[in-house]
Amino acid sequence: MDLTSYAAWAVRLVNDLVPPPELIRLRQELAEVFDVAGDERAVAERLNALLVRYPVRPQLSAHDGGPWHLHLAEDPAATAVMGLAAVVAELGADRLGRCREPRCGRAFLDTSSNRSRRYCSARCASRANVAAYRARRRQETP
Ligand SMILES: [Zn+2]
Ligand SMILES: [Zn+2]
Repeated sequence: MDLTSYAAWAVRLVNDLVPPPELIRLRQELAEVFDVAGDERAVAERLNALLVRYPVRPQLSAHDGGPWHLHLAEDPAATAVMGLAAVVAELGADRLGRCREPRCGRAFLDTSSNRSRRYCSARCASRANVAAYRARRRQETP
């Protein structure tokens, strides 16, 4: 069971501007985890609190002719929290980030090999590059 695969769902929920009403509180709680990204202890503390509030229920599953293996029972809150916690445990707390493009700020998981990701998308990266280029040019023009 690759628990980190559940983290994508957490990111999607945080970035979803209009979550289903029953998930509004969870969205806020998950967003707060990304808000403290960069402070590994704070990330871990917030996730630990959420792990207590939304415990996972493992279940045995067999499908597609494969052997029995563990899944997490369908639960949008518990799976999202567990996914983020698994990313922190297996890949590192510095994998959680928020887009540095000032008008964006979307949450993302940094899966780059050198942990250098700063933007949620190629679009935001190029937007930031253009802004930096214009700022440089403004400074250079007398
Ligand atoms: Zn399965
Ligand atoms: Zn972005």
